Amino acid sequence: NRQFRLKTRPTGRIETSNFDFVEQPIPEPGPGEALIRVLYLSLDPTNRIWMSDMDQYMPPVEIGAVMRGGGIGVVVKSNSARYKEGDHVSGLTGWQDYCIADEGMNAMGVLPKGLPVGLPTMLGACGMTGLTAYFGLLELGRPEPGNTVLVSAAAGAVGSIVGQIAKIKGCRAVGIAGGPDKCRHIVEDLGFDAAVDYKRKDWREQLAAATPDGIDVNFENVGGEIMEAVMARMNLFSRMPLCGMISGYNTGDPAMRADFSPILMRRIEVQGFIVVDFMAKFAEGATQLATWVAEGKLKHRETIVDGLENAPVAVNKLFDGGNIGKLVVKVAEA
Ligand code: NDP
Repeated sequence: NRQFRLKTRPTGRIETSNFDFVEQPIPEPGPGEALIRVLYLSLDPTNRIWMSDMDQYMPPVEIGAVMRGGGIGVVVKSNSARYKEGDHVSGLTGWQDYCIADEGMNAMGVLPKGLPVGLPTMLGACGMTGLTAYFGLLELGRPEPGNTVLVSAAAGAVGSIVGQIAKIKGCRAVGIAGGPDKCRHIVEDLGFDAAVDYKRKDWREQLAAATPDGIDVNFENVGGEIMEAVMARMNLFSRMPLCGMISGYNTGDPAMRADFSPILMRRIEVQGFIVVDFMAKFAEGATQLATWVAEGKLKHRETIVDGLENAPVAVNKLFDGGNIGKLVVKVAEA
């Protein structure tokens, strides 16, 4: 059982040297437990948060512990009525080949049989990232038909779904993304109304041109300068679900240095959230996302990197912009 154990906390980019890559015996499941072979790992910006000891919504990963991460696996041995051999399960598998699921604190969700989408999509559009987009936008952003919805990191896992749900709800969807390929992708493939390429010098002018009626909902993924420029274009009584601030995760800067006067002057409703806040409604959200995918209304893409051993390098794609859609690592053949 190969495992990445956190050795040191990164300062800046995540380095392979922040981990010990160790080999351990495959664990034996005890009573009420099951042994899970990890198939796919979800790489998420929050992995970087968990590696640090900044103030956060879960305890940081302890030095020496297996790196925390979401994933999907298959039950290979079970002493629990909850898990049957061959079931696919989703949960916090960690960065390793095998893990133990139990019926308590380390329980995992059993995926339904005969899924119409592949397992990586169950980590993306039909999994946690899709749910993040769904609840953040609909519950906190409360978009109304005709509203302008802006999303940053728009070609990524969460952002690409936010813009498409905004379109389903009859809104104008505007995305901010890095580079011409991503901007083309969100408009031509995903149906956004406009894209702003923040890597071009004139991005502020592009933002103004793309939002002639201002912004009613800002789904904030990035923070910092981009957030500040967007806030300056937000309308009276607009909403800003604060989902992430990825521009600050590697720098240790909170990415919150911004002019907050629009919040007062235009009475913007800003609400931070973590997807698990909506856990009680996950089944409803997942059903709706899967229905939209089946109907062809919600497109999804995954960037798949092969091999557990590549996780610490691959995770940096999230910070360099090397992914389109959901970033996953394939650990073993399904
Ligand atoms: P993505 O798939 O969107 O990948 C991250 C993307 O962010 C990159 O591809 C890159 O795209 C962009 N990016 C990285 N650094 C910067 C920067 N300095 N300035 C502008 N853009 C940048 O990841 P996710 O969809 O998983 O996550 C998106 C956001 O949502 C993150 O902030 C994350 O923390 C948050 N999140 C929050 C959750 C919650 O429960 N609150 C749950 C899941 C995610 P580009 O090429 O365009 O630069």
